[in-house]
Amino acid sequence: MISKKCSFCNTILKNTFVNFGKLPIANKYIKGKNPIFKKYNLKIKVCHKCFLVQSTNKISPTKIFKKYYYKSSYSSTWVIHCKLLAKEISADNKNLKKKLLEIGSNDGTLLKEMAKKKFKCIGIEPATNLIKKVKFNKKINIYNNFFNYQLAKKIISKEEELDYVIGTNVIAHIPNIRDLLRGLQIIFSDKTIGIFEFQYLLPMIQNGLYDTIYHEHFFYHSLTTLNKILQKFCLKIFDAKRIKIHSGSLRIYICKINNQKKRSKRFLRLIKSENNYKLNNINTYKIFKKKFFLHKNRLSKLIKIQLKKKLICGYGAAAKGNTLLNVIKIKNKQIKFIFDKSNLKNKFIFPGTDIPIININKIKYIKPEYILILPWNIKNEIIKNLNYVKKWNGKFIIPFPKIQII
Ligand SMILES: [Zn+2]
Repeated sequence: MISKKCSFCNTILKNTFVNFGKLPIANKYIKGKNPIFKKYNLKIKVCHKCFLVQSTNKISPTKIFKKYYYKSSYSSTWVIHCKLLAKEISADNKNLKKKLLEIGSNDGTLLKEMAKKKFKCIGIEPATNLIKKVKFNKKINIYNNFFNYQLAKKIISKEEELDYVIGTNVIAHIPNIRDLLRGLQIIFSDKTIGIFEFQYLLPMIQNGLYDTIYHEHFFYHSLTTLNKILQKFCLKIFDAKRIKIHSGSLRIYICKINNQKKRSKRFLRLIKSENNYKLNNINTYKIFKKKFFLHKNRLSKLIKIQLKKKLICGYGAAAKGNTLLNVIKIKNKQIKFIFDKSNLKNKFIFPGTDIPIININKIKYIKPEYILILPWNIKNEIIKNLNYVKKWNGKFIIPFPKIQII
């Protein structure tokens, strides 16, 4: 569905943020020789009225999320992140058996932590393949569905009042933002606290992180714009903090607008920093396109010309790499294999390319001279785990925020 109008305020979208043309959907893997990947336009625009950054071609979520290959528990960085979040949420629980709902609960990584802390847990997860195991956990109740206004109505009729509503990397993944917020509006009671995390627009623009743009992400939020949007649905952000996860994210804390909670100083500081960077000026968004072209040309030159005769492989068949490799048009000629920890992806072809994905235990036999780290946001974890590549003088290419060889 191609939308010409802003998903929130209905203004005609005039300003292109970036246009990648046609790309395959990330996390959609196919087996066999020379598979054909269906490609879809990926064009991002910014609304000059409300400054919501959004994709104009919103692919049906069923195509993306019904069978999903991204498993939270495969990243130890993410598992630690969930443990810390669980610790923070449960800090004031005092064994009161509080009730928590997670939208987009994936394989239950966070919910399992919360269940250990005696929370009553409800998960909403559309990917049928991810809920197979968590379904058997009696402490967790899973709705195998998409979150929307209709489901929110069903949940409030069935469940008790919620203490927490959590969504990590989910609010940007739901195309109908108004329906999502109508759902949140009714699911929040006066006592409910919402904690949401999403990739943060500010560092994305500052560092030109275009690989974080893919079909799954329908929106790219700033605090200022999201705050205005939530207010329209009687919700308010009372606190926010920057977190390192996924190459620079924002965690927001929300409640009903009539809740007495005061806005924190760090929330106000973040709003100020967005003002200072002029996120409320349409010209700021034009910088992104320039950064994109510059980076694309540099990385392309490095891989295709400077390291032409070297054995280069990729690491991590992550969604991020999908945009990067397809935009730079990297093929099997330049990158022989992509190593991945997940057995779910083993022997598949990386979307849009002819590069096979193989298990990480093959690294030792292939001995690549250079490893391009696609999920560069967890580069420390990866470099540490692969320190044995030093034996054959193997090096890592880090694509972002600056291209580095280490
Ligand atoms: Zn708008």
